[in-house]
Amino acid sequence: MTVVLRSPQEFHAWRKQQKGSVGFVPTMGALHSGHEELLKQARKNNDVVVLSIFVNPTQFNDTNDLDKYPKTWEQDLAMAEANNVDAIFCPRYDDMYPDNYRYKVSENSYSNLLDGAHRPGHFDGVLSVVMKLFNIVAPTHAYFGEKDFQQMTLIQGMVESFFMDLQIVPVATVREEDGLAKSSRNVRLTSAERLKAPAIYKAISESKTAEEAAEKLNAQGFIVDYVTDVGTRRFVAARLGDVRLIDNVQI
Ligand code: AMP
Repeated sequence: MTVVLRSPQEFHAWRKQQKGSVGFVPTMGALHSGHEELLKQARKNNDVVVLSIFVNPTQFNDTNDLDKYPKTWEQDLAMAEANNVDAIFCPRYDDMYPDNYRYKVSENSYSNLLDGAHRPGHFDGVLSVVMKLFNIVAPTHAYFGEKDFQQMTLIQGMVESFFMDLQIVPVATVREEDGLAKSSRNVRLTSAERLKAPAIYKAISESKTAEEAAEKLNAQGFIVDYVTDVGTRRFVAARLGDVRLIDNVQI
């Protein structure tokens, strides 16, 4: 049985009764098999599993993207139950932001690159909400997908900088058979765009340089925000219509 908890107070009362390790999977819902892989790893390695579903407005720099973010509550609940999730925490905005976002967590170096350079304030919103969720959920382990590699790295850095007592567990990117990274936003692609979308992964995996990958995507009609190599990874963000997709690979 999966319990659904709506406020931090309700969650706190439930959390006090739990024993052992707590694996936590924070999400914005519209769950797919990428999220499910995080749930499976959390289930395998912990006594208790918590999933959160909260479409966090402070991390959206584009109101259209926020308004159009898919919501699939019934399916999300079914996936949680099928994976023996103990509790779903799904707070409202006022519960999470009693100060209306007067206080925030920010990082002032790596968060300005890549997606941060194209989405002003995005990572402040991410770090702030994840800090809040960690404080409410009090997990021993938290699972993050490499699909959002920059986000995962920034969260790992936050945990170290603030001496937060939990372990961040990275999970490899889950892909469609044609290579497209699973994403809640994929359902917003038209069928023609969906056919084109795997070119993102193909371009970053098969090109010798970031420039070559960007050229291939431009030539196929993508609006490329960036293709950039940082250390041993290649990162991409590209738009098809009004859907913005990101991906990254080890190079
Ligand atoms: P989201 O709900 O999209 O914000 O994602 C919630 C968590 O699921 C984040 O840690 C993501 O990195 C992770 N995630 C999303 N898509 C994938 C995927 N295709 N493979 C692995 N993890 C993913």
